[in-house]
Amino acid sequence: MLLRNRLLSLSLTLFLSPPSPLPKSASFLFSFNKTIAHSTHKRPESKPDVSASRAAKQPMSERARFAKTVLFVPPGVDPEDVTDEMILPGSNIVVGPYAGHSQIKEVEFVKSSGRAKDCPKDDRPEFAILGRSNVGKSSLINALVRKKEVALTSKKPGKTQLINHFLVNKSWYIVDLPGYGFARASNAARTDWSSFTKGYFLNRDTLVAVLLLIDASVPPQRIDLDCANWLGRNNIPMTFLFTKCDKLKASKGKRPDENIRDFQELVRENYKQHPAWIMTSSVTGLGRDELLLHLSQLRNYWDQ
Ligand code: GDP
Repeated sequence: MLLRNRLLSLSLTLFLSPPSPLPKSASFLFSFNKTIAHSTHKRPESKPDVSASRAAKQPMSERARFAKTVLFVPPGVDPEDVTDEMILPGSNIVVGPYAGHSQIKEVEFVKSSGRAKDCPKDDRPEFAILGRSNVGKSSLINALVRKKEVALTSKKPGKTQLINHFLVNKSWYIVDLPGYGFARASNAARTDWSSFTKGYFLNRDTLVAVLLLIDASVPPQRIDLDCANWLGRNNIPMTFLFTKCDKLKASKGKRPDENIRDFQELVRENYKQHPAWIMTSSVTGLGRDELLLHLSQLRNYWDQ
């Protein structure tokens, strides 16, 4: 409840202060529709756009404007109808009618690929997990699937890094991507990472969204913002997963919720609508069920 209140007061502040003008180069609109535009062959042609027809009839209420600017409102939900109870705790994500079965029953490692074109060839949707080295990616994947040592690869900085596909419940993939920005990695290794991983993002038709991990125990990092901006500019849908949110002791610097707020303010400079975000901890399990539910609604809509 505390988190919810914190979110709402944060969101309200954001909503009440006029948005700063968007720089032309970065003025891309991120919305769930982009997710679908990304895989257009999956989009049902005749889905009625409820919010558009309603907007034509009456001006948007403050509540709807708030929902559209700050919250992640999934397909099938009219921003006018969003209530507090529909927002997942510790996130800005509204749960809609596409949310469904979300628990992980089985996970199998499928393959490691050195190039985007070597990835498994099938129609099942996938979510790519991406973040700086040490952000908590392996811990989060292990906590999600509740198995030790699933995310075995990509651990050693500088070693050959691969795209790792894990099949969940035989119906969708978690994709573990190499971490970026490790201080000890050479420039050559970073460049290599860029072309390799960018190739994956730009060519993978079954990619529903990137889960971009951000360490909430440290202040916003330029490299994370650059990564988010690159994904946004290329219309790659993303959800921010704030990691290590259990580190509540402000031994040095700010608390996770303060770092998250700072990060969001920076992100907001480039986005008209805030991408989905969620607070997690692999130590306490915070955000696990909420994240799985969120993935279920993205997946189920994609599957239509
Ligand atoms: P990766 O390099 O991104 O795969 O990061 P790891 O999962 O190996 O985690 C890096 C370090 O952060 C390890 O020391 C983990 O124990 C720690 N860590 C990861 N997730 C959490 C978390 O949710 N809370 C806390 N307190 N520490 C975490």
